This record gives sequence, C-alpha cells and structure tokens, in this order.
Amino acid sequence: MVGMDRYQSFARSGLGRFVVGKLGLPDPYPLRRHSPGTPPLNGPVLIGGGGRLADPLRAAVTSTGLTPATGAADGERYGALVFDASGIDSVERLRELHAFFQPVIRSLRPCGRVVVFGTPPEQAESHVAQRALEGFTRSVGKELKRGGTAQLVYVAPGGEDAIGSTVRFLLSGRSAYVSGQVIRIGPADVEQPVDPDRPLAGKVALVTGAARGIGAAIAEVLGRDGASVVCLDVPAQGDELSAVANRVGGTAIQLDITAADAPARIVEHLTRRHGGVDVVVHNAGITRDRTLGRMDADRWDAVVAVNLASQERVNEALLAADALRPNGRIVGVSSIAGIAGNVGQTNYATTKAGVIGMVDSLSRRLAGRATVNAVAPGFIETRMTAAVPLFIREAGRRMNSMSQGGLPVDVAEAIAWFAHPASAGVNGNVVRVCGQSLLGA
Ligand code: NAD
Repeated sequence: MVGMDRYQSFARSGLGRFVVGKLGLPDPYPLRRHSPGTPPLNGPVLIGGGGRLADPLRAAVTSTGLTPATGAADGERYGALVFDASGIDSVERLRELHAFFQPVIRSLRPCGRVVVFGTPPEQAESHVAQRALEGFTRSVGKELKRGGTAQLVYVAPGGEDAIGSTVRFLLSGRSAYVSGQVIRIGPADVEQPVDPDRPLAGKVALVTGAARGIGAAIAEVLGRDGASVVCLDVPAQGDELSAVANRVGGTAIQLDITAADAPARIVEHLTRRHGGVDVVVHNAGITRDRTLGRMDADRWDAVVAVNLASQERVNEALLAADALRPNGRIVGVSSIAGIAGNVGQTNYATTKAGVIGMVDSLSRRLAGRATVNAVAPGFIETRMTAAVPLFIREAGRRMNSMSQGGLPVDVAEAIAWFAHPASAGVNGNVVRVCGQSLLGA
C-alpha cells in the first residue's frame, strides 16, 4: 500500500481492522489527495444556511466541477456539507447549525468535507454567535472519521466574490491533511487565471530549501500549476537541487541564504533572469535541538539565522528593489512548534513564532499589493521527522484527528492555494497543515 506507514498498512488489513476496532486504536484512513483529471470530491455538495454568501457559494462550488444540492435527499451520500452561517445574528440562531448538520452528518462520504462560512466576529451583528462557530467546526473535525475534515471560513463584508480559490482548495483532496482551521478572507480585486488547471502560468515563484522534502514538493506543485520555479538551496545540495529544477522545468540557485550577499544575489537573479518575482516561499529551515540549559549559542544563532533573519533580509531586499510584482505573494513556513512550543526547541519555536509575526506585520504593510500568509505544518513525513526517535515519532504521527503523518505534498497544496492569483483576499492567515494535531489545538 503505497504512501502508508507500517501501522497504517496493518490497520487496513483484515486482522488489523478487527484489532483496531476492538481495542479502539487510532484508525489512519487513507486520505484522498488531489489527482488531476479526477473529481475533486466523492459526491455532491449539500449547501445549507442563508446569508449574504448563498449565491457566491453556489457559484464557487459549481465552478469547481462539483454538483451543489440544496435540499437533503433520502439515501443520498455527500462529498461535502457546506453551511452559510454569515447571517447568524444571535446566539439563539446557532441552533440552525444543529438543524442542518445533525440529520446529514452521517451521510458524509469518506474523506468528506464540512465547511462553515461566517462573518468575522468583530464585524458581525453578534460577535458572540460568530465566534462560537469556531468551537463547532473544531469539534466536528475531531468527530469525523475516515479522513473527513472541517473548517471555518470568515468572509469579511465585501469579500463575497473572493472566495472561489478557497472553495476550490477546501472542497478537494488538495486540503487532505488540513482540518480544524479558521481562515479569513477579506475584500479584494480578484485576478482570475486564464487556465484554471494552470493558475500560475506566467508567474515566477522562488522556493528556498527546494532540494528535498517539503521544499521539493512545493517546487513540484507550483510547477504543476504553471509557475516558472526558481529553486534555491545550499551548494552542498547542488545535485539534488538540479534534479528538482530539471523535473519542474525551472532554474536553480545554489546559495546559503544566511550569506551576507544572499539577498542581493537573489534579487539580481530574479530581476535579470525573470524580470521580477510573483511568489516567494520561505521554506528553508533547520533544527538544532537541545533543552535550553544545554543549548550553546551556536545552535541558537544557526537556527535564528536560517529560519528567520535571512527571510527578513530577503523580503526587505525584494521590496526595496521593487522586485515583487503586483498581486504578489509571500509565504512563510512556520510550525505547530511555533504555536504550541516544544521541548528541546526553544530556538526553533522562537523562529517559527517569529514567522507568524512576519505574517502579521507584513500582511498589513503590503495589503492591497501582495498577500503574506504562512503554513504551520504538524508531523510531515520527511527526512527531518525520520530523524526523530521512534517513540516520539510514533506519538507525533498518531496524535491528530487523522491518526497519521502528512505528506510534503499536503503542505505544498496549501501553499499553492495561497499562491493562486484569485487568493488576493486570503491575507494574514496562518493555516496549520497538521491533520488537526492535538498539540496546540
Ligand atoms: P529538510 O531538512 O528535509 O529540508 C530543508 C531544506 O532547506 C534542505 O534542502 C536544506 O539544505 C535547506 N536549507 C537549510 N539551510 C539552508 C540555507 N542556509 N540556505 C539555503 N537552503 C538551506 O526539511 P523539511 O522537513 O522539508 O522542512 C521544510 C520546512 O518545513 C522547514 O522550514 C521546517 O522547519 C518546516 N517544517 C517541517 C515539518 C516536518 O514535519 N517535516 C514540520 C513543521 C515545519
């Protein structure tokens, strides 16, 4: 069974199913991931609720190739249940969630989707009722079995026409390992791609740390979506880097991003060879774990230099040279360690929380001309996590609603959603790609 860890293969076997069921062990259901040419989900999308998003939602669902349904039909099983709660203006009306979802929640097919749309609490008639939606979706995410996910999307007034790329991401296998998230969409002038299957055609994307792991997957997915990808990694990874760049039809820069001249060389490469850049993905990252009392200054400095300081310097150089083109994207790679903290990772978690700070400050500064967002991966199956001791690794893999680790492609798909030209309203978000990890939940 390709792509499955050993426990997952066992849990899918005849004996395994019996043992897992009897003992109530974690049941890692094989996730349905995006595959070009196949339907985004396994079944129609039941839409409920009634607010200002009803029409845009139906249009967005239809444009993804899915069939919207408005009334629940006997015996029908759904690929997704979508509820427009944007008009809920009192605590009493929260009952509408129960009325819609309770009768149909068990008709959701495996790897199905629950998405609730709301109004940002601070802009809503009832701040309390809108904020309450978070508890609902996060709990539904924890209750869904068999690869199901649940999210909450707050759409600011004026952002109704900016939801398309987010609906496309959430109602498909692209979001296979994203659950329990709260996403905010603001008003924006949306650029629709000419070719929906290659939304990044004509765009240039820089991916740091692209030689392997998550970075290589990001390069591949952005390349699949049509971008010219500039792949960057340290000279020691030169062969692997060239292989990735060749595979995605992009170019390679061998460079240590902490070098004093790195920002200038990056700007020079992007402006001279490509006339600028549209998407910048700060993926390169390292760990140098020790508990604080045992951590020497070199470990601290190395992690801060790669994971945070270099990113700030590259951003400032690109902005000073006006190399980030209009409707640009800056994407950070944080971590759930930056949200929840982690033993032995004071240095790493400092930098990953700093990435969230970068999103907060830069997204405001660049609003209207670029978006700045981050992913915060949980346990992703890479060389970084393969190096974690067995028992800690096994705990990290299972302690989430999906009972399994994510794949690099899951992080890459979330980044491709941020990068999508129609995601101009998705700004200032930190979205965890963690299968709804219990850490920091
Ligand atoms: P990885 O170690 O497999 O790959 C990281 C890449 O970055 C390597 O190719 C490395 O050579 C490159 N790199 C390191 N220092 C560099 C420098 N100074 N200049 C240029 N390139 C440099 O790691 P990964 O698991 O693919 O992680 C990618 C990102 O995702 C990192 O930022 C990491 O912190 C983050 N992350 C990973 C996980 C996970 O579970 N794997 C979880 C949360 C966050």
